[in-house]
Amino acid sequence: MGIIKVINAVHEYFRRNQNGDVVEEVCALDDVSLEIEEGEFISILGHNGSGKSTFAKHLNALLTPQEGVIYVNKMDTREEKNIFPIRENAGMVFQNPDNQIIGTIVEEDVGFGPENIGVPTKEIWERVEKSLKAVGMEFYREASPNKLSGGQKQRVAIAGVVAMRPKCIILDEPTAMLDPKGRKEVIKTIRELNEKEKITIILITHNMEEVVYSHRVFVMNHGKIIMNGTPREIFSRVEELKEAGLTIPVATEIAFELRKKGIPLSTSIITREELVEAICQLS
Ligand code: ADP
Ligand code: MG
Repeated sequence: MGIIKVINAVHEYFRRNQNGDVVEEVCALDDVSLEIEEGEFISILGHNGSGKSTFAKHLNALLTPQEGVIYVNKMDTREEKNIFPIRENAGMVFQNPDNQIIGTIVEEDVGFGPENIGVPTKEIWERVEKSLKAVGMEFYREASPNKLSGGQKQRVAIAGVVAMRPKCIILDEPTAMLDPKGRKEVIKTIRELNEKEKITIILITHNMEEVVYSHRVFVMNHGKIIMNGTPREIFSRVEELKEAGLTIPVATEIAFELRKKGIPLSTSIITREELVEAICQLS
């Protein structure tokens, strides 16, 4: 079984009025099934309200499915005794780094999680050092987190999760509040954690350009997984992506329009460089 296995998971939210009557039902996970293998880098794409955060919360047992089953590292998220080991196995990073940083200096913040679970002091320092190196923040050990840029703060938050030695990290729109430089730093860090540390990555985003490096992409819409494939396979399905409310990378869009006019360009163009290269090779 993969590190994550989701079988026909359903999650409905009920909004009630003052009398407790259900006034609205939202099916945020609608019969979702998927499997993720250890070591994969997965992206989950979808516009606002498509169910991505609900899905993320299920992978961390913050929510449990009303129908179906979810296994994280072979553990059923519905079983009380599994909650703690699941959270150790699957770390979460959220949108706003300011809500995730608690320490007054960087190393203290990164060591907080391991300390909390009773890791011996010597090992805490080893973990802090290794985690800060893994996110490229080893020279900021003694810095005050509130003096850091958004991208640096988010990398410290990621280091805090890495220090817990999770098998899998789920990042829910980790770049949404960052400037372009911060976004690049965070995406680079995530790639390295996957390539060098072999940590399974689940990157949730509504930004198409960020999913380029992942092995597989799942596209969500109205609580369902509507597409599943490599980034290039997904990007070639421009019309479906637009219907799912997603913004297409500019280069992909231009190639798509040119193809409609009969110009033979590849359906796998994502970056500006690839577009320029392909146009230059037209004879
Ligand atoms: P995303 O992360 O893709 O924006 P969410 O998982 O946050 O999507 O939300 C999916 C749907 O569930 C949306 O329609 C949202 O309004 C609804 N929803 C999310 N959280 C709650 C909640 N706590 N109570 C009621 N409805 C909710
Ligand atoms: Mg969300």
